[in-house]
Amino acid sequence: MARIYNFSAGPSMLPEPVLREAQADLLDYQGSGQSVMEMSHRSKWFDAIIQDTEATMRRVLNVPDNYKIGFFQGGATQQFAMVPLNFMTTGQADYLVTGNFSKKAAEEGAKFGQADIVASSKDKNFTYIPDVATLPYHKEASYIHICQNNTIFGTKFADIPQVAGVPLVADMSSMIFSEPTDVSKYGCIYFGVQKNVAPAGMAVAIIREDLLGKSAKGIPAEKIPTMMNYTTLLGSDSMYNTPPCWCIYMTGLVMNYLEKEVGGLAEMQKINAAKAKVLYDYLDSQDFYNNPVEHKYRSMMNVTFTSPNADLDKAFCADAAKAGFLNLKGHRLVGGMRASIYNAMPPKGIDDLVAFMENFRQANQ
Ligand SMILES: *Cc1c(COP(=O)(O)O)cnc(C)c1O
Repeated sequence: MARIYNFSAGPSMLPEPVLREAQADLLDYQGSGQSVMEMSHRSKWFDAIIQDTEATMRRVLNVPDNYKIGFFQGGATQQFAMVPLNFMTTGQADYLVTGNFSKKAAEEGAKFGQADIVASSKDKNFTYIPDVATLPYHKEASYIHICQNNTIFGTKFADIPQVAGVPLVADMSSMIFSEPTDVSKYGCIYFGVQKNVAPAGMAVAIIREDLLGKSAKGIPAEKIPTMMNYTTLLGSDSMYNTPPCWCIYMTGLVMNYLEKEVGGLAEMQKINAAKAKVLYDYLDSQDFYNNPVEHKYRSMMNVTFTSPNADLDKAFCADAAKAGFLNLKGHRLVGGMRASIYNAMPPKGIDDLVAFMENFRQANQ
């Protein structure tokens, strides 16, 4: 069996030990005589799975007691709408637009009230993050929304906005669990799981309790569609209806892996920083490939680069795929290449990619 290196931005690689554990459990989950895919979400086995998954996530991310964790369908994109619908109590919120996903989030926000774009890095094709300390935030903002790691453009916030009395809401889809996070600095963190956690099909939101029980200005709480209502869904422990059982189970396995095998997020960060350094150091050491991102804002998870022209980009991706490096084509908004090097990408995957890049450079420069 040959496993390839999958550099996709998502769905992406999962840790091999986790896949093996899922395989071992597949036909008979812990003596239940059935797989997790088949069992009732109200069974004692699944009840233990969802409770353990949440408890382990709380330990791994060090989630304070006054935050609730919810598992939702609809991906991170649905969170773009759930956030304003549930939290835009003043009818206004501040959005930082640092890429395509934060733009989409702001567009959803504008459906429920006034979504003010207090900063944008569009002027330089999203290759940097505006200085968060000097922005014209609004006192009456219900929240400030950021996308902390920009999956498509390969940037990440170096600092996060902190405004007294205004909760920070962050889409952390493509960086969650890549490093320790101080959850207490946020009102809400949400992420789709298919980038750095589990298979596609679920989003997680971690919400400070005092933000619950409200709704957007002009929309009474009881008019929020049930499946969009954080308060209802969290009030029933993410079991209001049938939850994404398999995704929750896989998330639990990954949390367990992070805690027991990796040794926590500080360890994960060391591994990720070392991996990213190998790739960025190589990019900085030659003049065939170029990474356009301002160094301070380089993402540890998504690394973009171009070769001298579009034809060579195409040849690079084709040759790379033949050599077992998959999904390196950049997003259509950026072009070139993008290597997504999430938690589950082994360090050897980066070393081998850099060796391949150097061979390609020598053959084509
Ligand atoms: C992938 C991604 C999304 C979209 O996630 P879906 O689960 O496909 O809705 C949103 N935000 C960020 C930062 C992403 O990387």
